[in-house]
Amino acid sequence: MIFRSPVHYANGLIRPSSAGLTNPREVARQLAFSRREFLRSAAGVALGSALLRSSLPARAAVSPSKRKVVVITFGGGARDQETFAPEGQENIPHLVRELIPQSSFFTQVVNRGILGHYVATASLATGVYETINNFASLPPESPTVFEYFRKDFKRPASDAWVVAPSNGFNRIGESSNRSFGPGSGARVILPKYLLSAATSGSADYGHLLRDSYETPLYAPALGGKPFELEEMERILELSVDEFKSHAHTLSSPDELSVYIVRQLMRRLAPSLLWITMHDIDIAHAGAYSLYIEGIRRTDRLCAELWQTIQSEPEYAGKTNLFILPDFGRDSDDDAGGNGFQHHRTGDALSRTTWMMALGPGIREGTVFDRGVETIDFVPTLGALMGFSPSFSPGKPIPELL
Ligand SMILES: [Zn+2]
Repeated sequence: MIFRSPVHYANGLIRPSSAGLTNPREVARQLAFSRREFLRSAAGVALGSALLRSSLPARAAVSPSKRKVVVITFGGGARDQETFAPEGQENIPHLVRELIPQSSFFTQVVNRGILGHYVATASLATGVYETINNFASLPPESPTVFEYFRKDFKRPASDAWVVAPSNGFNRIGESSNRSFGPGSGARVILPKYLLSAATSGSADYGHLLRDSYETPLYAPALGGKPFELEEMERILELSVDEFKSHAHTLSSPDELSVYIVRQLMRRLAPSLLWITMHDIDIAHAGAYSLYIEGIRRTDRLCAELWQTIQSEPEYAGKTNLFILPDFGRDSDDDAGGNGFQHHRTGDALSRTTWMMALGPGIREGTVFDRGVETIDFVPTLGALMGFSPSFSPGKPIPELL
């Protein structure tokens, strides 16, 4: 048996290590405890509990028919030592100073599914641990949140959208489940696909066009019918020339996604809008500085989107924003991995993520460290918005209701 001395954070707390503990639940619990203490000291949040029923939200909830929901997956996965731990907080100043004080923050959101970006994001969107091949162009097998939402509320296609980073995500908006027919889910916009078509893959835009960071040789297949430039011009009222010239000013694919999201919010104001960030996943290339740059950019873009929500009349005062990662990354001391670079070991640290919720009806500045699962997310949205995610085995999170 190998004994390791515990690794301490700057504030003296012991950093959970999958090498030192054998019980994944204990690792997850310790990680949640550390996050809670970091947030209490850095963001001044209070400790909540399921019994805290007397603590009312700062802003009253809006009626389900008027409520809008924006979901951001904090994509690619980041570890605590580059984010919530004392030495990482300089990389997420917007989350720590602006968003967390306004949010209910859950420190222990466990993903018990497959740690591939497409299949994990599909699991988040269905409330079921999907087992589809992460690298195939397949729809989720269980109904998506978009299908539940549209069917139960009889909403048109224009009311639910996904903006995603990779061709491999093109089918995430609609499941293969037969209870829902073709065209009953969300349209997916792939900004990189659009930019590639607009520029014929010009090298000038190369930094915005790389589809996947997993391996240099892997190129995800494009399945289903993509949202095309002609639709961008007609539906988003964005000309190809304007799109190209604005893209030229941007530094990353996630910035391009946020640009498209803003067009969607202004033109269609969908009630359910899902944005999958992915810049952080550049960590697979092995350059720590690029990984950190990705975290800082994602931190800034999350805050910018929250500001956009406050400034758009269709969204201000009636929108809940949820930010959560698909999963984390490997720890430095796991012999089966290569540190921050990948998410291959499936250890408890890379499975134990977090979630923040903001907006009307949500308790502000409150942290909860009770364990929940990623498949609880869709049932929680169902309980908040009023639709029935009947295929999900997850449970609504009572602290958000
Ligand atoms: Zn990855």
